Amino acid sequence: MVGANGALFIVSTPIGNLGDLSARAQETLRAVDAILAEDTRHTRALLTHFDIHTPLESYHEHNEASATPSLVSRLQLGARLALVSDAGTPLLSDPGARLVHAVVAAGIAVVPIPGPSALLAALVGAALPADRFTFFGFVPRKGPERRAALADIAALRHTAVLYEAPNRVGETLADLAAAGAGERAAVVARELTKQFEEFRRGTVHELAAAFAETPPRGEVVIVLQGGDAPPLDEEALRTRASALRSEGLSARDVVRVLMEEEGAPRNLAYRLAHD
Ligand code: SAM
Repeated sequence: MVGANGALFIVSTPIGNLGDLSARAQETLRAVDAILAEDTRHTRALLTHFDIHTPLESYHEHNEASATPSLVSRLQLGARLALVSDAGTPLLSDPGARLVHAVVAAGIAVVPIPGPSALLAALVGAALPADRFTFFGFVPRKGPERRAALADIAALRHTAVLYEAPNRVGETLADLAAAGAGERAAVVARELTKQFEEFRRGTVHELAAAFAETPPRGEVVIVLQGGDAPPLDEEALRTRASALRSEGLSARDVVRVLMEEEGAPRNLAYRLAHD
């Protein structure tokens, strides 16, 4: 694997279907000196299934600050460690970011072993635009942070992906509708890779109503289509173009700014930049 040099392997594990643990993930979990697991009992069950006997150590949100320095020291001495979370890909709404930052800062190799994540499974099954998206993880549960996050999501022009606890899905969808996203297409992806996998599709309003009384069973991801761009204001673009020209930008740079920052189509940006 990595010879005498230490390395931290970030290993994705199944989100429900054990068949999703890749051959490379199995090989890595077998070969490392120790596996850092969010919940050692949970990961032990996975390892037992695959007949893997690597020692397990706890690494979770409550000890990541205290455990990180000694893990970095061990890696510097040549240890090979794997980081896993209970399900899916570590760091995605799961612990590990602190360790990865410290490991990279210490000049030690980080090796991702990619695989399952509810984020990508939900996104690709949602049938909403997947070429550009923002992942919000779990939105804050209350207060101004929640309102700000929901307003950000409602203002987005591209797809948003959110994790949510099943008993909060109805409320979060209703709050998104109240923030102005009620007519957007949305998908609640449930129990991905499991027996009762399901994609519920509708507008945010419709799904909020559907889940208001009866929360979905099992784990869910919410995927929300981006909003329409506001109509272009040609006069405002013309003013911006002439201001940029007075600042000394070339016509070519003005075209680029109008397209990238204002969303102007190329032919309009070209015309305004050369007027
Ligand atoms: N790191 C994980 C990943 O890569 O998917 C996510 C961990 S986060 C603590 C757990 C959340 O992921 C759940 O509340 C749910 O929103 C989503 N999730 C995990 N497994 C899922 C599944 N099988 N189906 C739908 N959502 C799932």
